[in-house]
Amino acid sequence: MKTMPDSAFRSATDSVAAAARPFSVCVYCGSSDATRPDYLQLADEAGAALAGRGWRMVYGGGGVGLMGRAARAAHGAGGDVLGIMPRFLARREIVLEDVPHRMVDTMHERKRIMFDESDGFLVLPGGIGTLEEAVEMLSWRRLELHLKPIVFVSRDDFWEPFFHLMQHTIEARLTPPHFLDVLDSAKTIQEALDAIDAKVVRA
Ligand code: AMP
Repeated sequence: MKTMPDSAFRSATDSVAAAARPFSVCVYCGSSDATRPDYLQLADEAGAALAGRGWRMVYGGGGVGLMGRAARAAHGAGGDVLGIMPRFLARREIVLEDVPHRMVDTMHERKRIMFDESDGFLVLPGGIGTLEEAVEMLSWRRLELHLKPIVFVSRDDFWEPFFHLMQHTIEARLTPPHFLDVLDSAKTIQEALDAIDAKVVRA
């Protein structure tokens, strides 16, 4: 893993730290169980596919919505999982006790550890929390604070409105056109994991 220019980002993401842990993909996804069943199934697929590749799944630590489905599927398929849960959310998001997890105090700490512990990011359908997490990773890429791939799984064009918004900012000359290279989209989980595999910067 390449180091980043900002020393504040360096410690946990340098090649030594990254080499000491399994290849890991952070999954950002919704916490709602009320969504479409095929989105929940997509989360099952993501967890199983990560386990199938022998990749660790890093996520928010909850047992609800797509988050819980993906983590249970990865764990059930024999995969390694790491959840990061803020204490104040543990009851609301029902911390998944079956998988290793770390308790933290704040959302910022949660996101920071999820970032440090991961080599790439898989974005499944989700709400404002998912969007916030994914957009933060994109904005850090924009600032060249990291080079980790970020791939949106856009089943049924779920993420199209977001890509349109990004295109709109490009047309307004607020985002450079080359940033489209960073906005990776895949139709299937396997295609998304292939894209992460192809784009990850290895030491
Ligand atoms: P949602 O997509 O809204 O269902 O949220 C997905 C996950 O993102 C949930 O576990 C939320 O707790 C989490 N989340 C929401 N906002 C933030 C934030 N600012 N920082 C970190 N995680 C967040």
